[in-house]
Amino acid sequence: MRTTTVVIGAGHSGLAMSSCLSECSIDHVVLERHEVANSWRTQRWDSLRLLTPNWQCRLPGYSYGGGDPDGFMTMPEVVDFITDYAKFVAAPVMSGTPVSSVRRANGEYRVTTNQDEWRCQTVVVATGAFNVPHVPPLSDAVPSSVTTLTPLEYRNPEQLAEGGVLVVGASATGVQIAAEIQRSGRQVTLAVGEHVRGPRVYRDRDIHWWMEAAGVLDERYDKVDDIVRARRVPSMQLAGTPERATFDLNALTGMGVTLVGRLAGINEGRAQFSGSLRNKCELADLKLGRLLDTIDEWASANGLDSSAPPPHRFSPTVVDASPPLGLDLTSGEIETIIWATGFRPDYSWLDVTVLDGKGMIRHDGGVVESPGMFLLGTPFLRRRKSSFIDGARVDAQELIVELTDYLDRRASLARD
Ligand SMILES: Cc1cc2nc3c(=O)[nH]c(=O)nc-3n(C[C@H](O)[C@H](O)[C@H](O)COP(=O)(O)OP(=O)(O)OC[C@H]3O[C@@H](n4cnc5c(N)ncnc54)[C@H](O)[C@@H]3O)c2cc1C
Repeated sequence: MRTTTVVIGAGHSGLAMSSCLSECSIDHVVLERHEVANSWRTQRWDSLRLLTPNWQCRLPGYSYGGGDPDGFMTMPEVVDFITDYAKFVAAPVMSGTPVSSVRRANGEYRVTTNQDEWRCQTVVVATGAFNVPHVPPLSDAVPSSVTTLTPLEYRNPEQLAEGGVLVVGASATGVQIAAEIQRSGRQVTLAVGEHVRGPRVYRDRDIHWWMEAAGVLDERYDKVDDIVRARRVPSMQLAGTPERATFDLNALTGMGVTLVGRLAGINEGRAQFSGSLRNKCELADLKLGRLLDTIDEWASANGLDSSAPPPHRFSPTVVDASPPLGLDLTSGEIETIIWATGFRPDYSWLDVTVLDGKGMIRHDGGVVESPGMFLLGTPFLRRRKSSFIDGARVDAQELIVELTDYLDRRASLARD
């Protein structure tokens, strides 16, 4: 089978690229191992809503058209939104078609699936950045009496045994799961390392509205000092709820969650926590202050000071004078551990040597270090918002220019 471009993955990123390819009349297929929007169907917990507001759900030629622009979609709503988009752009999706290998031979790509081998000039990798939970090696030392779960396995508190829960990791996933489990009546201990604090609402507007308006979400990958680090920054502690609640650590301690430092080791059944909790919280408070400074400067420069409430700062994160440094995991106090310690992509099917030492694809703004290969949907690919739905929109619109340039260069070389 032959086509010009194979797009791998029918999440919003692959579909955004499909729309751009169609606009340029480039023949292509979108190969999807399961169904459109598979990650949202199968890899999210029940109560999850988008943390990006509905008005920010924008894809090339398409945007949220419902009656609640400031609300946050539930998972079934996200699945509908993406499925409707696939129909709207008439994406040539082949469902139930897992790609098992991509290799380069004789100046073209060979894409092997469970059905056919595709030959093509260009490949777009849109297989997602968050498909494999990252669980630290120290998890091997967890006593067998404790049940462990990843966020991909977690669905709701009812699936957990009664008893205490240790949630490891305090980014968006960790704080949301910790809050939900604490509300179910189980005592939650939250192990907190580096984190990014964020209020849902600031000066009467959604924090995402401010971050978009002030240009924070659009900050470009080639303008930040350390892009390797920027790509690893944890997600902001945010959730999308009808109440527009803030999910920072003060909100969690207000619910009764116990904060401890980063999980540093497990020795003879005893969890050991770092003593850096206060430092990590002070750093997060400082960075939140800087973000609000940026927002306030932008608001002043753009004449919003008279229409928005005045600037203010949030109370510092409250941390116990001496938070626990250890916890006996054999005493029965902790029944379950949830590893909210991040996600990784899965490129086990990729037989082109473009992975770095951490298993990430080497690329320059989505242009992969293999001619004619492109990447979409990973953190800070081209801008801070790249891993959000709205980020794939603009990234795809820019990458299609790179892709068509590549095809033009190939065509002119073939002519010469
Ligand atoms: C818990 C969580 C909450 C999030 N909340 C938000 C939010 O509020 N707002 C927001 O904008 N973003 C959010 N994101 C980020 C992001 O939008 C999602 O991760 C999104 O799913 C990424 O879209 P994608 O199209 O790049 O990848 P995916 O949606 O993961 O799509 C990749 C597709 O590729 C397919 N695939 C993978 N491997 C193969 C293969 N070998 N062969 C064929 N097909 C394959 C998969 O089945 C999948 O359908 C969240 C992410 C997570 C993990």
